[in-house]
Amino acid sequence: MSQQAKTFADKVVLITGGTSGIGRESAIAFAQQGARVVVSGRRQKEGEETVALVEKAGGRASFIQADVSDEAQVKSMIAHTVKTFGRLDIVFANAGLEWTGPISNATVEDYRKVMDVNVLGVVLAAKHAIPELVKTKGNIVITSSGAGVVGMPNVSLYVAAKHAVIGLAKSLALEFAPQGVRVNVISPAAIQTEMFSRFANTPEMLKAVTAMHPIGRIGTPREIADAVLFVASDKASFMTGSNILVDGGFTAQ
Ligand code: NAP
Repeated sequence: MSQQAKTFADKVVLITGGTSGIGRESAIAFAQQGARVVVSGRRQKEGEETVALVEKAGGRASFIQADVSDEAQVKSMIAHTVKTFGRLDIVFANAGLEWTGPISNATVEDYRKVMDVNVLGVVLAAKHAIPELVKTKGNIVITSSGAGVVGMPNVSLYVAAKHAVIGLAKSLALEFAPQGVRVNVISPAAIQTEMFSRFANTPEMLKAVTAMHPIGRIGTPREIADAVLFVASDKASFMTGSNILVDGGFTAQ
């Protein structure tokens, strides 16, 4: 297939949480469709591994170390993207942090950490990327979760944060629709990543979580990346403020 025929041939994509899991797989998938990709996260070695995987797939990528909850680092991340590749078309605001336990165990520090990464991280990425996205009529895709639309016992802080970003996305979609910037959300259920391995860390837990998905299995990072690429593409040009569930039926029950 020629470069011209690829969906994201002239596009630059910034991915937060690109050092592993869904973010890494999406970086490879975007690059396979011609995008130049900036990958960010806190872990340098893993970020460079993602860059190597993108290059192995025939794409171009750059890593920048950034903590999404630090405004100065987020500003540098956006500046690095524009300096390296000349523009910014798509932000995949995907960095996230899980939390589990009874609310009696939740500390103020836990709350702040979960909200800082899952919510403030998206707020800061949007705030500093939107001026660039207005120039390119670009779009933002945010990773929420099935836990963003239903309650789950003993996951309360994470559930609260993932609900919050859906409301944030709807509001940003309305705020920037007149300027041609779309904002959408992808909400996965259980996906085989490092985060999921920390969550379902015993065979019993894995069995129980798998059983919560009517499709009878957990998902793959590529199944989420495919949905991310669709909403980020011109094929989704009439979609904004949407939350797309990619959850094996988890929230349909
Ligand atoms: P993962 O492999 O653990 O990836 C999480 C990513 O978030 C990593 O790249 C991590 O990078 C990044 N991150 C965490 N804290 C950060 C911070 N302070 N600053 C910058 N980056 C940070 O897990 P994943 O499943 O792919 O998670 C991706 C997204 O999917 C998250 O938003 C998660 O909530 C969501 N999700 C996952 C599932 C699932 O079952 N896996 C289900 C629903 C939703 P560094 O450690 O390098 O900073």
